Amino acid sequence: HSKEQGRNTYNFYTNKMNEDVARRLLIEEQLRNALTKNDLYVCYQPVVDLKSREIIGAEALLRWNNEVMGNVPPDEFIPIAEQTGLIVAIGRYVLEQAVICASGWRSKYAADFKVAVNISPRQFRDAELLEYLESLLIQHNLPASGLELEITEGVLMTGHATVDKALSDLHTMGINISMDDFGTGYSSLSYLRSYPFDTLKVDKSFIDDISVDQAGLQLVGAAIAMGQVLGLKIIAEGIETEEQYQLLVTQQCDYGQGYLFSKPVPADEFGKMLEADRLRFS
Ligand code: C2E
Ligand code: MG
Ligand code: MG
Ligand code: MG
Repeated sequence: HSKEQGRNTYNFYTNKMNEDVARRLLIEEQLRNALTKNDLYVCYQPVVDLKSREIIGAEALLRWNNEVMGNVPPDEFIPIAEQTGLIVAIGRYVLEQAVICASGWRSKYAADFKVAVNISPRQFRDAELLEYLESLLIQHNLPASGLELEITEGVLMTGHATVDKALSDLHTMGINISMDDFGTGYSSLSYLRSYPFDTLKVDKSFIDDISVDQAGLQLVGAAIAMGQVLGLKIIAEGIETEEQYQLLVTQQCDYGQGYLFSKPVPADEFGKMLEADRLRFS
């Protein structure tokens, strides 16, 4: 009897493993055609000035609607795109869309509007990233200050000299560099001091805790104070409740993002939101 149980457990795990491998392979295969089939699109989530609630920018977030698998979340397909190298082409698509949109929104609604784009480690090893960005900005008439690149510690931990060079070159160009998911990785503090960051995004997991207990609130307060000492612009990620919002204001947090203000929405919808925002503040 127990022998059979053992075999069933074994079968359970191998089936699960096979399913995972099969799904991975399917994603990889479908992702290869995603760009030509036009089923990738970019959504935009507002970044808000917490004091006025005015939209000052947006984060570009990739969406994938595949005919076989339906909507596949970025947390699932981005790592696969990264491992296969597909992220280089996909990432350029996101950058292009974001730059085109930001340029249009700046001239129509907000002259100082900024768009933030997530860049993964593999994209940083693309020797042509810098040239690509330079020509993209010129082509679509967006000043470098209208673009921000979000990186996580994973980019810095590769230890490549090329990453250091790329970051300082981008910064010199006037493109802003943002540390994403701050607090979730390792050695954040030393990285913040030794690289040319402009912005620090406090991870949602910390924002979740600020209304739970005093320690949670003080921890975020300390992160904000530290970022300000380093001269960084601080953005709180994943604000969902009015209470969290109010508490962040008490901690002198300047900017925020989260479902309380808006989920990421397609470009046309974002344009309408921005237009309404401008009318409200003009
Ligand atoms: P991220 O860069 O940290 O993006 C923030 C994530 O939090 C987004 O998830 C966003 O939709 C979600 N979010 C924002 N506000 C709230 C909130 O109030 N509550 C909750 N529950 N979630 C909120 P999303 O769009 O699923 O993206 C997940 C991750 O995938 C991103 O994390 C980023 O690391 C990666 N990603 C997305 N688009 C791209 C891309 O174009 N390129 C690269 N390299 N990575 C991307
Ligand atoms: Mg991000
Ligand atoms: Mg983040
Ligand atoms: Mg994240």
